[in-house]
Amino acid sequence: MKPRDRLRIAMQKSGRLTEPALDLLTRCGLTFRQSRDKLFCFGEGEPVDLLLVRDDDIPGLIAQGVCDLGIVGRNVLGEFQLTAGRDGEPLDELRPLGFGRCRLSIAVPQDMAYEAPKDLAGTRIATSYPGLLGEWLRSRGIDAGVVTLAGSVEIAPKLGTADAICDLVQSGGTLVANQLRETDVLLESEAVLAGPLTLPVDERGDMLELLLKRLDGVIQVRESRLLLLQTSRHTLDAVTRLLPGGPQPTLLPVAGQPDQLMLQALCAGEVSWRQLEEIKKAGAREMFVLPVEKMLA
Ligand code: ATP
Ligand code: MG
Repeated sequence: MKPRDRLRIAMQKSGRLTEPALDLLTRCGLTFRQSRDKLFCFGEGEPVDLLLVRDDDIPGLIAQGVCDLGIVGRNVLGEFQLTAGRDGEPLDELRPLGFGRCRLSIAVPQDMAYEAPKDLAGTRIATSYPGLLGEWLRSRGIDAGVVTLAGSVEIAPKLGTADAICDLVQSGGTLVANQLRETDVLLESEAVLAGPLTLPVDERGDMLELLLKRLDGVIQVRESRLLLLQTSRHTLDAVTRLLPGGPQPTLLPVAGQPDQLMLQALCAGEVSWRQLEEIKKAGAREMFVLPVEKMLA
């Protein structure tokens, strides 16, 4: 295979992860020429191209070296490592990306007597994640049958093809609609940036490093708020103690008011109305909470 000099990222062609993944890459300053109904998107500004595929194929494409990186659910990555990718070099979760959050859980019919995982012994459990489920059962010494289904796992108990299920849950609505009860969480999942353990040491490696730095900036910005407020010097300590996330604030003098200070702080995460009200009670006024557009440390 001819060595590539452009970085190639695999992502889901059409599904839950598609929009947020594209949005994230756009925020990292990447733009692509091809339309999204194509398999391949050529990167315009930077030497970074996209391969749009089914999410299940993403870990394999990285393992084979067809792509350098992939945006995929931790659940799909974990399942690959325990099944098809078992004998290869393990893949690395380079960054958690904060979207596509869900969990892989065991759920049983609402009328089934269930107290602890050991109650699953001797049952049949339907799942699309035989690797992750098998590992969980083994680590607890539970002997249960694993029925592998590609989809519609939640109706297996009703159809009589399984006694319980192990499936992805987000709100739990699907479980309730199928008279199922969530009992155990096997894995907390979200979209991750996956890559090989050893990263390339060439131009692609340089681009990858640059991309990781931008990603860190974008992720931090997405979760950051700039808090601006005015306080008098004698209430400064009380106000600072209440700043969400305990950031180190910057203090500026206020012209013509020697007792007053302008405080500026970068807070990790939302700043709620409740928190603002508390800070105000401690002596702050003229408060602003601003979103952050870009950040480069
Ligand atoms: P593809 O056609 O690419 O194989 P898919 O049907 O397997 O698509 P989606 O349903 O789009 O995949 O889900 C993609 C990922 O989104 C999942 O692997 C999981 O990481 C995440 N996800 C978040 N919430 C849920 C949910 N409620 N159900 C399923 N997946 C979820
Ligand atoms: Mg899939």
